[in-house]
Amino acid sequence: MESLNWAIDSTPVTELKGVGAKVAEKLQRLHIETLHDLLLHLPARYEDRTRITPFAMLSEGQFATLEGEITAVSMRPGRKTTLGVTLAAQGYTVTLRFFHFSPNQAKAFKNGQWIRAYGEIKYGFQNWEIIHPEYHIFNRDNPPPLPATYTAIYPLTEGISQNQLRKWIGEVLNKAGLNNDYERALAFCHRPPSDTPLDDLECFQTPPQQALIREEFMAHRLALLSLKEDTVISQAPKLSAHCYELTRLFKTHLSFELTDAQTRVLREISADLALNTPMMRLVQGDVGSGKTVIAALSALQVIEGEHQVALMAPTELLAQQHFESFQAWFEPLGVPIGFLSSALTAKQKREIYERLSSGELKMVIGTHALFQKHVEFHSLGLVIIDEQHRFGVHQRLALAQKAGDVTPHQLVMTATPIPRTLAMTAYGDLNVSVIDQLPAGRQPIQTIVLPNNRREELIQRVHNACLEGQQVYWVCPLIEDSEVLQYHSAESVFAELQEHMPEIKIGLVHGRHSAQEKDSVMRPFSDGETQLLVATTVIEVGVNVPNATLMIIEHADRLGLAQLHQLRGRVGRGTKASSCVLLYEGPLSETGQTRLGVMRDSTDGFYIAEKDLEIRGPGEILGTRQTGLMSFKIADLVRDQDLIEAANDQADELWQNSRQEAQIYIERWLAHNLEYGQIG
Ligand code: ADP
Ligand code: MG
Repeated sequence: MESLNWAIDSTPVTELKGVGAKVAEKLQRLHIETLHDLLLHLPARYEDRTRITPFAMLSEGQFATLEGEITAVSMRPGRKTTLGVTLAAQGYTVTLRFFHFSPNQAKAFKNGQWIRAYGEIKYGFQNWEIIHPEYHIFNRDNPPPLPATYTAIYPLTEGISQNQLRKWIGEVLNKAGLNNDYERALAFCHRPPSDTPLDDLECFQTPPQQALIREEFMAHRLALLSLKEDTVISQAPKLSAHCYELTRLFKTHLSFELTDAQTRVLREISADLALNTPMMRLVQGDVGSGKTVIAALSALQVIEGEHQVALMAPTELLAQQHFESFQAWFEPLGVPIGFLSSALTAKQKREIYERLSSGELKMVIGTHALFQKHVEFHSLGLVIIDEQHRFGVHQRLALAQKAGDVTPHQLVMTATPIPRTLAMTAYGDLNVSVIDQLPAGRQPIQTIVLPNNRREELIQRVHNACLEGQQVYWVCPLIEDSEVLQYHSAESVFAELQEHMPEIKIGLVHGRHSAQEKDSVMRPFSDGETQLLVATTVIEVGVNVPNATLMIIEHADRLGLAQLHQLRGRVGRGTKASSCVLLYEGPLSETGQTRLGVMRDSTDGFYIAEKDLEIRGPGEILGTRQTGLMSFKIADLVRDQDLIEAANDQADELWQNSRQEAQIYIERWLAHNLEYGQIG
């Protein structure tokens, strides 16, 4: 059995030069905590930078590596100053254009120096241009070597650049001995030799990629088998009562009636809770279908049965929002609850730990911090996981260990509709309940698709909406390799909007803010004091501000359908009519056009998910993470369907023959980052 180089497997990223606590925190958002995680952070796509393209051979839209001598550096004044650097070679010129640059960056460009630049070729004012290229300045006599392999383009998070990831992953690859098939396959994925057909690579058809995919499916199946075994032999916490006094009281405080669908799902949950085997239930319900109140009603049944409840949310913001809702709901019932996240001080955390282990707190709401080793419950009876697509099997594996001899009941809630054919692999051991009905009185969301050249008009409309007292989200997603598109980053949009409407209170929230900073921006928005919120996709999941009625999404054509649907679900949550404007920078690709068309025509999550599967051709790289399906690292439930069955068979056989070996695969792909207790 090959096992991974031990040092790489468990070493935290902070061991790398230039990776401190701050950077590590950002890497965590990419699920990177160890050197092994870095190796498993696979490229989203590749670029061929192994050759220099002559200026005469360029064409619109092409990605190319160029080399030339600087012949002019000019500032073009305007509402925003732009910097143009003109390069000449073979009698032609190309201009590198920057909308964002630091003074030092501008000073570094000098006539006579040479530049190698990489980026998308666009037709500019007089000649070809590259907007925000990646570049190196060099001395004519000493050109940097061209890469021998394709260049990896990684999924990013705010505050982490392509170059940083390339450097760190390169260091780990150099450290790894590359002396087994697993490591060699990973190395191939990060640095594929330039004779590999790019199409095969991007469709994950090369043998090393296929081997990794099979192995990941196998590991996933093994983890499910292991979970299932634990569950079947384990006992559920025994509830001391199956009466519904608390839920009855709760409903009398509630300002609305449950929908029929909510009532049915709740009945299914109550039946599960009455058994002495642990509940394993998934509640699927479109955005806004009212899953939170189901969570609350389930929790109350377990609390009345004298056990504790833990509710986990994927983000700090969402956890806080849930905490506030639950506090308002449970306080009148005399049920004390607590909040736990990594943003608390050590002292605050200790206090929560104590109140949980003594049993004083009946419920705790939080983020991944709930998984930490120190967290001990007096008697954990139910674990609720909200927005399941952010959690994988491995978190559930860890959780199952929190309740001692018994396995807690588990309720997983998701807005992601999974097509029936894939549900088995995605959820395996879970029973599914569907809330297939929205609360009455919801107004449909009107969706408008708009090119960015009508921006001025749109801003005027947003301004008017704010003056009328409406609340508006302006979403600026961080796009995968957004180095090129930074000029539309949340901050510059914020500045732009402030300039246009100085009298309107505008908030700005993005991933670089700490939890507290986010809170200090979100709170005035949810209280209605701030009218316009400029945000990155940090607001994607679950945020509930029913008074918000207008949403603008920048670069909508670059986002997946599932993400657009999630984002749009932030409006239309109250009784007022809402709209959503999908902005794109023309011309639209065919897929972009189809996607935005689907969004314009439907607000039905199940329909949108089906279309998503149809649209995603095999050549398109939209991993399962982006679509919200299970978070595999390399495998894709849809793209790689054909490999699932064989991998499952192989897993079943291994499960029979060698638990030890099975464990190695589970840890490699799913569990290792929990073992070291560094989450959250
Ligand atoms: P999601 O399913 O997306 O998590 P939430 O639970 O956040 O949705 O509910 C969205 C909004 O709908 C909340 O403001 C909630 O209070 C409200 N809501 C939930 N159930 C009902 C209902 N039966 N009737 C009216 N409003 C409801
Ligand atoms: Mg929700």
